[in-house]
Formats: sequence, C-alpha cells, structure tokens
Amino acid sequence: MEDNKGPTDELKPETGAETDCLNAIMKRLDAQWHLDVSKMYDKRVELLKLLREVGPARFNTAIDQTLTHHTGDFCPTIAQIRARVPLQSGGKHYLRHRCPVCSNGWVYLEDLDSAGNQQVKRCPNLKDPAFMVEVPVA
Ligand SMILES: [Zn+2]
Repeated sequence: MEDNKGPTDELKPETGAETDCLNAIMKRLDAQWHLDVSKMYDKRVELLKLLREVGPARFNTAIDQTLTHHTGDFCPTIAQIRARVPLQSGGKHYLRHRCPVCSNGWVYLEDLDSAGNQQVKRCPNLKDPAFMVEVPVA
C-alpha cells in the first residue's frame, strides 16, 4: 500500500508518533483553511520532511505560531511554516531576512542624495516572519 516512492525522495515509513503528530496537524490546518483534498497528500509529505528535519518540539512550535499568526485565506506554504520554526537552542542556526525586494534588509532608492550618494531605506518586509529563513552557521 505504501509503495508510491517518488523518484527523488525515499521517505522512511512514518513512526506512530509521527503519524499521530501529522494527523492532528492536518486536522488543525484543515479546520482553519479547508485544505484542497487533492493537495493533502503532498502537504503531508512536506510536513513530514520538515518534522524530521527540525524535530517535533520546534515543528510543533512552528505549527502553533502559524495557526495563531498566519493571516490569509489559504493554507500557508511549507516555506511560510518553515519561517516560523524557532531557533535551535544549540545556536547552530541563525535567522536571516531574505526577500525579493531588498538586499540584506536595505532597499536602494532610485534617487541619489544631494552629494550624489546612493540612498537606502529599510526593507518594508523586514519584520515579516514569512521572509525569515534559518541559515546554518558555517
Ligand atoms: Zn527585504
């Protein structure tokens, strides 16, 4: 029955704890956003991968944060959920702002100032957790 391996991902079968965790979370996501049934399987696979990557404690925190703070009519993407995964206590990762409109949190303005210098302003997305990504410390 569980014989549908994709070409790239060979997921190990879920443990009982993972199944319980994901069942509960799918129910909560569905209650809030009415998931598209045709996309549920993919969503669940993505969630399982994230769960395995970050561990249940950080995963559940991210889900709680998402359910509390994600506004919008559609279920958040995995990237949006991932953005809410808390930092690892071991300090092996840090959060960094990455978004399409800026460079390192600064937006370059078209106009130069009177001295001819490039002007910058803070990125409007800077405080938006959807644009925070976790970067491993090298
Ligand atoms: Zn930005």
